[in-house]
Amino acid sequence: MRGMPEPQVMTVTGPMPVSALGVVDAHDHLFLRTPALPGDEFDDVERSTAEAADGRASGIGTIVDMTPIGLGRRPNLLRAVSEATGIPIIGATGYHRDAHYPRGHWVYDASVDELAERVVSDLEIGMHPADWTDPEAAPDAARAGAIKAGASYHHASDPERRRLEACAIGSLRCGVPILVHTEIGTFGHEIVDLLTGFGVAPARIILAHLDRNPDAELHAEIAERGVSLEYDTMGRTKYRPDSDLLDLIERMVGNGHGERLLFGQDIGRRSMLRAYGGGPGLRYLMGTFVPRVRRRIGDDATDAVLVANPARVFAIEAPA
Ligand SMILES: [Zn+2]
Repeated sequence: MRGMPEPQVMTVTGPMPVSALGVVDAHDHLFLRTPALPGDEFDDVERSTAEAADGRASGIGTIVDMTPIGLGRRPNLLRAVSEATGIPIIGATGYHRDAHYPRGHWVYDASVDELAERVVSDLEIGMHPADWTDPEAAPDAARAGAIKAGASYHHASDPERRRLEACAIGSLRCGVPILVHTEIGTFGHEIVDLLTGFGVAPARIILAHLDRNPDAELHAEIAERGVSLEYDTMGRTKYRPDSDLLDLIERMVGNGHGERLLFGQDIGRRSMLRAYGGGPGLRYLMGTFVPRVRRRIGDDATDAVLVANPARVFAIEAPA
């Protein structure tokens, strides 16, 4: 539209027009530490920089780091990686599911208002460098540009529901999308019911890991509600071969749901990063998987998933 300013995303180094995003890895991690994955933490800035550079060389244009509050999020190091590699990084605020917070963590006792206030502070002022374990610490210069939330296997606990409500408040206040972790692809409709009940538009909701349960009929129902589905199990050979995921993608695109798909890699373990001595690493998406996607669904549909869809979903909307 003539005269309309181009939509922007918020990266850790500031706002950026969506046309500069390129290929978006819509869910990944450059720094992570959680009691749910002991021994698999990663927080070495040099190695994470090397991994991000490798991802960029493979063709990734922008990384969305979906590490939320309390999981070893490192806003200053995200800025350092972005500055060293030139790769734009969108950081996240929000909260994961219960399994990632030890008993007694403040996220269990905080009110919805306090949970929401901290999300909004990360989005409007800058990400808290210590996730409020040291409330005196000054906010980092990097603002979050997306919200992460989480539910459990076929249910959401009461604390998870409070955190989903806080994330909804943050999304409505700041115009950014919410990406929700689904456990093995379950509870998708119910998460959408909860968030839309809090006033969030379906177009602002992304469900992650739905491909852990590659049920094309269920996915079509969710896509028809206007919600984005983020597939991120390419290269998870321990779950199933990539050919199964390619079948799912081909079916979704063939049924007209291509505009609801996003790809991420969700590399949440040290042992999956090449720079830390593991694999498959950040190069897997563009180096190994996407050439196979292009052969299945063609270049136009592939580029929509990689470029156009994330540009629409991660664009910051003016608050209602
Ligand atoms: Zn993740």
